[in-house]
Amino acid sequence: MNIAIDGPAGAGKSTIAQRVAAVRGAIYVDTGAMYRAMALFMIRKGIDPKDTEAVGEACGDADISIEYRNGEQRVLLNGEDVSDEIRTEAVSAIASTTSANPKVRQKLVLLQQALAKKTDVVMDGRDIGTVVLPDAEVKIYLTASPRARAERRYRQTLEKAAPGQEIPSVEEIMKNIEERDYQDMHREHSPLRQAEDACLVDSSDMTIGEVVDRILAICDETA
Ligand code: C5P
Repeated sequence: MNIAIDGPAGAGKSTIAQRVAAVRGAIYVDTGAMYRAMALFMIRKGIDPKDTEAVGEACGDADISIEYRNGEQRVLLNGEDVSDEIRTEAVSAIASTTSANPKVRQKLVLLQQALAKKTDVVMDGRDIGTVVLPDAEVKIYLTASPRARAERRYRQTLEKAAPGQEIPSVEEIMKNIEERDYQDMHREHSPLRQAEDACLVDSSDMTIGEVVDRILAICDETA
């Protein structure tokens, strides 16, 4: 069984998808990490993320693959593990621009479809239920209010921050999240939207455990 989980930034997709995958004995695939690795490649090459032609041409030189170490997904960019480096606000913002490029999407969608063909996956992203796995047995559209998402991101960042490190305020994070939502929902190719046959789950007032249980119940109903 393939399970597609789509939704905006900060809705808790990755934490929830990982737990659902563990219970279902499936592989978790974080497609956002692939778009982030592509963005990092463009940053390193000094390519303007808005230059459609340059990004489209350069993406052919970015070999992105994923590996699993101790059950955790690692993203490799031309053989180098960049899993930690891609988790910055700067990479998030650029990923949202370069991911609108049709050549980038074409390349990464093929990779994602190949993974899902090999094994049962819980795949999270923006276009999994609509484009990547239109035949997924279970489709979830996971969302939450922008404030709830920003507050979660703020707490996560605070937990990971080094002592004395400056971190963005909830308001700043919310602004970034809303800008990213807008870009992801209004792009021409594969915009973020709920698939017609996806179940909507609003996690604003739910705990992680409650969301996981809800999705597992949907999977059981489908099986
Ligand atoms: O999920 P995450 O926040 O890591 O994704 C980073 C960016 O990658 C998103 O803002 C979105 O622009 C892009 N993305 C996408 N399609 C996906 C997954 C992510 O366009 N399936």
